[in-house]
Amino acid sequence: MSVDKSLKIQLTDYDVKEIAPKIYKINEYNLSTMFVIVGSERALCIDCGTGVGDYKAVIEKLTEGKPYDMVLSHGHVDHAGGREQFERIFVGEKDLNIVKEATLAYRRFYILVMRYLMFFKCIKFKDAIMKKVGKEPELIPVKEGFVFDLGDRKIEVFESPGHTEGCLCFLSRSDKIMFSGDTFNPLELMFLAHATSIEEYRETLNKILAIEGYDLLWPSHLKDPLTRKDGEAIAAAADKILKQKHNFFLPSIFIKSKNGYSIIYRPDHVRRKKKERKKQL
Ligand SMILES: [Zn+2]
Repeated sequence: MSVDKSLKIQLTDYDVKEIAPKIYKINEYNLSTMFVIVGSERALCIDCGTGVGDYKAVIEKLTEGKPYDMVLSHGHVDHAGGREQFERIFVGEKDLNIVKEATLAYRRFYILVMRYLMFFKCIKFKDAIMKKVGKEPELIPVKEGFVFDLGDRKIEVFESPGHTEGCLCFLSRSDKIMFSGDTFNPLELMFLAHATSIEEYRETLNKILAIEGYDLLWPSHLKDPLTRKDGEAIAAAADKILKQKHNFFLPSIFIKSKNGYSIIYRPDHVRRKKKERKKQL
C-alpha cells in the first residue's frame, strides 16, 4: 500500500485503496466507486462520482502531477454527478444526453435514497459539499476500440449496452482487470430509464465474457472484485428471464434470481422492441 497516509485526513472520508500497483479504488462515502489508473506517462480516471466533495484533489494527489483523462462508465447520477470539477470528459456516445440529467436536485435525491438503502452508512446530506454545475464540461464521445495510452499501460474501451445504452467497460491487459462499471452487478438494475432490453444486455454479457486478457471484473459499488464465474452467474440469471413467458402489458418490476445473483427488470422490456430490431438490421 503506497498511498500517503495523510491522504485520508486531507480529503476527509474518501476511502482510497490500492487494488494493484498504482491502480486506486476510491469509495465516495458509500455512494459510488471510482478508479484511478496511473501509468508511466499519464493517468485515466474512471467516473467522477456523485460529487459530494473535492474529488479532483484526490485525483491530483494520486496522479502526482501527471496529465490525466476522465472517462465515464455510463451517464448515471452517481457516476457523472461530480463533473463540475472537470473541463472535458469522455463518455459513451449513447449516454451523451443522460449526463446532464444529473442535476443538483437529482444528486441530492440520490443521496437521500442511498442513505436509506445503505442503512445510513453513507455521507450525511448536510455534510455533502455540492454545488450547481456552473459550466458543463466538454463531453467527448468515445467508441469501442479506443485506447487510452498511459505509457506502460494501455486501457481498451468496450461498449457494453445494458444497464444504460452507452455503458462502457475498460480493459487493462497488463493488469488482467476489466473495469466493468455497472455492467456486472450481483444485483443488476435493468429497470431504470435508459436500460436496454434483457436480450441486448445478455448479448453484452456474452461479448465481455468472451474477451480474453482478464481474470477480474472490477465493478462500481462493490468492495471486492468479481470473477468470470460471477459474471457467468449473472448471465445465467439473464437467461432465466429470457426463457420465461412474460405479460408484456404488465406495468411492473420483476426480480429474477439464480444462485444469489439477481436482475431487477421490466417484463415489458425483455425482448428488443420492434423498432430496435429494425435499427439493428
Ligand atoms: Zn448506473
